[in-house]
Amino acid sequence: MERYNSLSSYLKNRFGEKILKVSIDGGFTCPNRLNGNRGCIFCGEDGAGEFSGSRKLSITEQIDSQIKFLEHKSKSSKYMAYFQSFTNTFASPETLKSKYYEALNHPNILGISVATRPDCIDDNVLEILEEISKSHELWVELGFQSSKQSTVKLINRGYENHVFQRAVMSLHKKGIKTVAHIIFGLPNESHENWMDTVRFVNSLPVWGIKFHSLYIYKDSLIYDYYLNNRFKILQRDEYIDGVCDAIAILSKDIVIHRLTGDPDKKKLFLPKWPVDKIRVIGTINKKLKERNIFQGAKP
Ligand code: SF4
Repeated sequence: MERYNSLSSYLKNRFGEKILKVSIDGGFTCPNRLNGNRGCIFCGEDGAGEFSGSRKLSITEQIDSQIKFLEHKSKSSKYMAYFQSFTNTFASPETLKSKYYEALNHPNILGISVATRPDCIDDNVLEILEEISKSHELWVELGFQSSKQSTVKLINRGYENHVFQRAVMSLHKKGIKTVAHIIFGLPNESHENWMDTVRFVNSLPVWGIKFHSLYIYKDSLIYDYYLNNRFKILQRDEYIDGVCDAIAILSKDIVIHRLTGDPDKKKLFLPKWPVDKIRVIGTINKKLKERNIFQGAKP
């Protein structure tokens, strides 16, 4: 019995088989990291694309090499191409089309997932995405992280909550699925602040969600911030309780793409526990059972 609406179940129901993701570096940049701005304070040098392919390779080459690597792990033959690194709608319409369709024309790719910022969804982008969504599976992943005003400033997210609201509504009107990324454990945030962020997501026609814990990478601004401010580091049990409580209030129809993140061990300073992702997920599932929690049971 599934206690939450998981991405793997959605994909199985929709496509009748297991579908994996291959992560692409499409060679984009990020407007929050230009003109002397150093971006969101938790973001590493690779623009949140830890495990994506190399931008020195073409998109087709990245897909081929990742499929080769994953073939040993799974019998799956169909994949979603995840444009993960930096802001994947921040380029001219011609460039966007050429990159997206290079992925979509690969014989093993059935759709794309595009990670971006809500302030980088203009009419041209909407038009391209709408066209793709009519023929392929398409998700637009938006980094939201938190709804708390002081946190938004502190992490240098670079846009206000209403910009996220507007982007979700515009995408929804075009029939495009959105996935909200949120982070638990940001400096000076309480458990109640995390639940407020989940309620904010619930208030919008968001299709999916990814839960992450904060990690401090040595190549991110938050590393220096931590050394100077020594804020409280999130503990594994606190995170697990937070995710269980979030699932209890999360709208029933939102698809959960991630219960925890997947940090790069080599860059990680603190905390260390997210590296053992299997253990975190296993404990969340165990706790959900113990506490008899079902998604959306306590709205
Ligand atoms: S918007 Fe994304 S790529 Fe840009 S700084 Fe923030 S996390 Fe990094």
